[in-house]
Amino acid sequence: MPRVTVAREAGACYGVERALRLVRETAARSEAPVCTLGPLIHNPRVVAELEGRGVRVVETPAEAAGCTLVLRTHGVTPAVEAQARESCAEVVDAACPFVKKAHLAAERLARDGYQVVVVGEAGHPEVEATLAHAVAAGAEACVVNSATEAEALPVAKRVGVVVQTTLSRARLSEVVGALAPRVEDLRVTNTICEATSGHQHSCEELARKADVMVVIGGRNSANTRHLAEISAEHCPGTHHVEGEDELLPVWFEGADLIGVTAGASTPAEHIRAVCARIAELSGATAIERDGDSGTGQESRP
Ligand code: SF4
Repeated sequence: MPRVTVAREAGACYGVERALRLVRETAARSEAPVCTLGPLIHNPRVVAELEGRGVRVVETPAEAAGCTLVLRTHGVTPAVEAQARESCAEVVDAACPFVKKAHLAAERLARDGYQVVVVGEAGHPEVEATLAHAVAAGAEACVVNSATEAEALPVAKRVGVVVQTTLSRARLSEVVGALAPRVEDLRVTNTICEATSGHQHSCEELARKADVMVVIGGRNSANTRHLAEISAEHCPGTHHVEGEDELLPVWFEGADLIGVTAGASTPAEHIRAVCARIAELSGATAIERDGDSGTGQESRP
C-alpha cells in the first residue's frame, strides 16, 4: 500500500505566517483601502485569497496614495519605503525580521568600508532591496549567483558577503570558495534563514528514499524552486505543483513512498489539500510526517 510522507520541515515559515496574519488583521480593521506593494508572498493562490478580502496589489507606492500599504516579506529599498511613508495613509511593515537582518548586515558592511557582494538571484525583490540598502549606506555593491560569476567579478581588497535568505548553503560555499583566493579581507555574514536550510535538509532526506516527490508552492517562489532542484537531484520523479488540481494519477503508479514538501510561502491548508488528493489518486491510506512512519497515524502537516 503506498504511503504519503510529508517532509519534517515543510510549508509556511515564521515570516510568511507573520505577514499573512498582519495583512489579514489590517484588512479587517483598516478604514482606508488596503494594498500590498507587489504580491505579499510568491504564491498566486494566497494572493487570490487576499484579493477576496479586498486587498489590492499595487506596483508603486504612488498607486496606493491615501491607502493603507503593507510592505511584503521580501522587504523594500530605502527609497521605496520613504515614498510609501510620504504618500500612504498608513504603512504596515510585513518584511520578515530575517530579511531585515540581511539589510542591516549589508549596511554595516558598507559603513565598515567593504565592497558588498550579495549572493543570490539578480532581480529578486529581496536581493534588490538588500543591494539598495548597501548602496544607500555608501558601498560599491553587486549581485552574484555562482562561482563562475564570482570569479569574473572585479573585486576590491575588502569584500563583504551577504546572502539571499533562501539560498542553499552549497551555493554560498561555492561563491565564497571562488572569492576567497582573490580577496585580502573577506567578511561573510551568513544571512541564510534557518527555515530555508531546515526545509532543504528535510527535503533531501525524504527525496533520497521516496519513489515520487511532490513539491508544492508558487512557480515564482525562489525557495520552492530551490527545493524542487534539491529534490530532483535525489529523486528523478519530482513534480513541482501549485495546487492539488495539477496532480496527475500516472505520477503515482507503482510508487510505494510518495514524498511531499512545500516552499516557505505555502500555507498548511494547501499541503493538506495536496496530500488528500494524492491519497485519493494513489490509494494511500496514511499521511505521515517523515520520522513518524510506522505509527500508522495520520499527521496534520
Ligand atoms: S524563509 Fe525565512 S527569511 Fe524568508 S520569510 Fe520565511 S522566515 Fe523569513
